[in-house]
Amino acid sequence: MIKIKVSNLVNDRYEYDFEGKISEIDISEPYIGNFNTNVALSKFGNQIILDAETGIIANLICDRCTKEFHSLVTSKYRMIYLFRQKLEDAENENLELVYIHPGTDKIDISGDIRDYALLAVPMKKICSEDCKGLCFKCGKNLNDDPCNCREEKIDSRWEPLQKLK
Ligand SMILES: [Zn+2]
Ligand SMILES: [Zn+2]
Repeated sequence: MIKIKVSNLVNDRYEYDFEGKISEIDISEPYIGNFNTNVALSKFGNQIILDAETGIIANLICDRCTKEFHSLVTSKYRMIYLFRQKLEDAENENLELVYIHPGTDKIDISGDIRDYALLAVPMKKICSEDCKGLCFKCGKNLNDDPCNCREEKIDSRWEPLQKLK
């Protein structure tokens, strides 16, 4: 759980650094190891603006060559907290806005960190921009070595033309 004490904060800008095992904030696959979250918080009147940036290593499987690789995934979000006496009247359609009671001592940001980290897992997982992938014929990982399928790839229909050359 990551909690930030918000009671008795004077109008100012604050920074926090959180580090720990991903299990502490309920994160698992594809993430591994530790998380690191940097929080910048600005308090002004009855409003708190919170910017969080999290970095976690993800263990991914390359879409092209099917090898596992590690990649640092960063996720950012902004959340605005508004102190409000009567929470039950507060209609809130905005996902980036949270109403909190003026008596709130601490805000728990673990859930938001987790949600945004999970959203940041890339859809397309490529181990490197120039990953050559697998040979569609023999299944060899072409990043390791080229295979011998190239020459055989010529369509048999073109064979007569080849002979003419
Ligand atoms: Zn790859
Ligand atoms: Zn091959």
